[in-house]
Amino acid sequence: MTNLPPIEALSDVLPLTAHADPDGVLEIGGCNVRDLANEFGTPLYIYDEHTIRATCRAYLRDYQAQLPGARAHYASKAWLSPALTRILVEEGFGLDVVSAGELHVALAGGMDPEQIGFHGNGKTREELEYALDRGVGRIIVDNDDELAVLDELTRDRASEQRIMLRITPGVDAQTHAKTTTGLRDSKFGFPLPSGQAEAALVRALDAPFLDVTGFHIHLGSPLFNIQPYVDGIATISEFAARMKQRHGYEWREFSPGGGMALTYTADQVAPETDRYAVEIASAIDTACDTHGLPIPDVHIEPGRSVVGRAGVALYSVVSRKHIPETRDYVTVDGGMADNIRPAMYDSQYEAAAAEQMRIIPHIMVTVAGKFCESGDVLVRDAHLPSLQLGELIAIPASGAYQIAMESNYNLALRPAIVMVNDGEAKLVRRRQTLDDLLQLEL
Ligand SMILES: *Cc1c(COP(=O)(O)O)cnc(C)c1O
Repeated sequence: MTNLPPIEALSDVLPLTAHADPDGVLEIGGCNVRDLANEFGTPLYIYDEHTIRATCRAYLRDYQAQLPGARAHYASKAWLSPALTRILVEEGFGLDVVSAGELHVALAGGMDPEQIGFHGNGKTREELEYALDRGVGRIIVDNDDELAVLDELTRDRASEQRIMLRITPGVDAQTHAKTTTGLRDSKFGFPLPSGQAEAALVRALDAPFLDVTGFHIHLGSPLFNIQPYVDGIATISEFAARMKQRHGYEWREFSPGGGMALTYTADQVAPETDRYAVEIASAIDTACDTHGLPIPDVHIEPGRSVVGRAGVALYSVVSRKHIPETRDYVTVDGGMADNIRPAMYDSQYEAAAAEQMRIIPHIMVTVAGKFCESGDVLVRDAHLPSLQLGELIAIPASGAYQIAMESNYNLALRPAIVMVNDGEAKLVRRRQTLDDLLQLEL
């Protein structure tokens, strides 16, 4: 058990602007969370604009310092909204989508289609047509069937489309089995060792309207260890060299994917952005040097690490239970409908009493969600002070893959989202209403 108050113990997990006011109430972006809860209700997702912008700037600065042609594409599946897209545009980020829905929202937020990459192992024909109609910059082709459909559609239209090939290099990313993607037995990408990646390149080079700009790998996430990137780059550049020798093909672009880690708990250390940048760049330099390849333009695709730390989930305590010699439960007014990650990936989080940020926690409590599943536990064994009914609990590092994976399970209402900055809170998505639940019903 820590002997620091949460405002200090969680300083690497909370947003950059987090403070405690003189009463010990958490403030984010100059906004007091008690005021936010009063105005917007709970559960509430609070995003700190400053943290998002500072992270974007660090990404571009650190990668462009190493690799002049580097570009950053935010992986929008981590969380997408028009409000976020506008910030990304201002910060010079592009964006990756994995569905027509994400593409639609990205365009609504003002993203230049040229700066969009379209990913996924199950793009439908309709989605591919929509992407071609909108002029997305790159389609990252995942498999033979997709390649055949794209060949056909671009011939019909007689219009050129830039593509990258997603290659599965056969590298163990050392992360959760549900989030590893670079192994040979993966649903994603063209397997390299079996020769399927080479066959796909040959076919794509034959397609008259497909321009193959290079290769893409994404190994999994979150990757606290940088070595898998280095291994992946060594493997893919060897492949690139072989393709140059055998087919005269030279890559112009390369993406090492996303998966850069996020600090979820006080005892974790996610490497800084510049450490990934230095090691990824040096692996690319070395490989290109060894194989006599040109240095490609590098597109990185961070998702969780861009928005994760900026987001805080705010809940109210709705019930408490003490089971003698067993466990104390505190149940909050949200749970797996707004954060499925603990139930799905055993994800760990911190919890803090948002109105007692200067109090050193002294009891061990399990923070449970309100949904009708025993697995709906947000934080097992959290260190908290004693809590009153209605008191606020904050769960930091909640910005990624929570709202994005939300559901209406138990017909819960989807929470409101506010963006805070310099003492101002802007509601960027209103809370669902009971009537909203009936909107699609005929
Ligand atoms: C999910 C994904 C990312 C982003 O992963 P994060 O862990 O959010 O950084 C990047 N690229 C691809 C292809 C992905 O599928």
